[in-house]
Amino acid sequence: MPEITQTMLEDALAYGRAFTDQGRTAQYIPYLRHVDRDLLGVSVRTVDGRRFSAGDSKTPFTVQSIAKVVALALALRDRGEKYLFSGRVGLEPTGDPFNSIIRLETDRKPYNPFINAGAIAVVGAIKGRSGSEKFERLLRYFRRLCGSDAISLCGEAYLSERETGDKNRALAYHLKATRMLEGDVGETLDVYFRMCSLYVTAEDIAHLALVLSNRGVDPATGERLMEADHARIIRSLMLTCGLYDESGEFAVKVGYPSKSGVGGGIASALVDRMGIGVFGPALDARGNSVAGIAILEYLSKVMDVRMF
Ligand code: GLN
Repeated sequence: MPEITQTMLEDALAYGRAFTDQGRTAQYIPYLRHVDRDLLGVSVRTVDGRRFSAGDSKTPFTVQSIAKVVALALALRDRGEKYLFSGRVGLEPTGDPFNSIIRLETDRKPYNPFINAGAIAVVGAIKGRSGSEKFERLLRYFRRLCGSDAISLCGEAYLSERETGDKNRALAYHLKATRMLEGDVGETLDVYFRMCSLYVTAEDIAHLALVLSNRGVDPATGERLMEADHARIIRSLMLTCGLYDESGEFAVKVGYPSKSGVGGGIASALVDRMGIGVFGPALDARGNSVAGIAILEYLSKVMDVRMF
């Protein structure tokens, strides 16, 4: 297996550049409409401590759905696998868009933790006496998983998200009506909107993916941040559901567990090897970074790391 090098990363970035004009930034969240679609960055952190970055790897962007990984990790810690997956959320891909409501009426339980309905149910399961306590706990955990204390809220994105979040409200109230969500819906939604609006960089999400690939231990500190089995569950779900209704195509093209967000980030966890973070805000029709996918595809080929 060829080892990752800085040149490889630069080449992957150059390859990805040809794709940024093939997508658009997310239009349904006003804040994201105005992000420069030509930004592009990639970052790699290996379990044996090597770090590589190229392009806009230190440029902050909103984490969006990649936050669902952290919410799931925390809810698993708080409640355990049995509670979460028997009663709150499923483990199956949907083939539907990430914000779809259609199956909630027929199946009640959201299909998986990475569609919006599933993530809202997961946020509802996080422990805390109030929304702000839940968010504070989530933020603290976020920072540890990303190995960065700098992670904080992008206020403008949060307001924008809240202003236009009616589909997410519909999902949450539907869950509440069918008794799949307990507690104050408004508070749960607020935690959801906030976690989506956290500012991260490609380096931060590479670190998050690194912890997942290193079976829950941060190799930089030696600290266990999540149970190995929880990291395994999350990697499995990233593979089957991480890119919504593009997960199957992505598994064929790229072939390792990844999670995307409409801010343009994708975090990829290559078990026992490395975490990769990419950032390119131009999205395809299904809400995934076009150039980000191209970079990951390039890297998976040159490193020969596809799982299948
Ligand atoms: N904040 C976004 C939403 O709820 C997250 C979706 C995403 O990244 N796919 O619609």
